[in-house]
Amino acid sequence: MFHITVFALGAIIASNASAHQVINAEAGRVGPGSTPAVNYRMHKAIELPNKPGHLNRLAAVDTQDKPRCAADGVCNLAVCSATQDPDCPNDLPPGAGAEPATTAAVSLETVDCTSTQSVDILAVAWNLVDDWTNFERTIESATGSNLGNCIRSRFRDNARVICEQQTNCNNKGRCVLGRSSPLNKTTRIFGTFFNNIANAAAPDRRACYAALLMHEFSHSCDRVFEQPRAEARETAAFTYWRTRFPGTSGWTRTGTNGTGCGLD
Ligand SMILES: [Zn+2]
Repeated sequence: MFHITVFALGAIIASNASAHQVINAEAGRVGPGSTPAVNYRMHKAIELPNKPGHLNRLAAVDTQDKPRCAADGVCNLAVCSATQDPDCPNDLPPGAGAEPATTAAVSLETVDCTSTQSVDILAVAWNLVDDWTNFERTIESATGSNLGNCIRSRFRDNARVICEQQTNCNNKGRCVLGRSSPLNKTTRIFGTFFNNIANAAAPDRRACYAALLMHEFSHSCDRVFEQPRAEARETAAFTYWRTRFPGTSGWTRTGTNGTGCGLD
């Protein structure tokens, strides 16, 4: 189900511990005093100032504007990057997320991620949580297994996603793109994955994040010997995202060398 309404996006960023680190990046309503210029208008929409005297809307959902990432008055973070869309404020903080009508916030934590990585992760998390009922139904019907509440909680508020600089985890060659352990809220994403999507458009990158995070959160919520469920959910999540936010045709979950996420 497409969300046509322009929901708003407020951003709260906690202090940066270092130039590379974003801790407790929280997407949600901008709190009192954090950004005095923020105004609330029309159904919880938030408008942030961009040019002097000019207010732009920030949307964490796909507004279906055409063209989506052009100057149309909407900073459309669901499918565009902040630098790609001229409507996005220059000072959009890393980790910016959504303040939509139906989902108050997501507050999963990103650590050591670039601003693009954090925004991608939070945009994916917010959009999945916001459409959870539909998303859950879609994944469950594709995989034949219950999704449960744990994965939703990961996306919504309790995952800790660490962006690793090294290309892979060196776990005896058993993981390359991401890693997480059963019943552990920490997920690591490795450089190989970031390299795979480095030159991709935002909708394409985010389809990859949706797939990878679904895979890793599935591991983090399941016990051992459940690899087939993570794989199936990864595939279903990718398909869901592409259906909801179509990107570049030919971009696939498994494609390599600039044709896809490089997942397997
Ligand atoms: Zn796996």
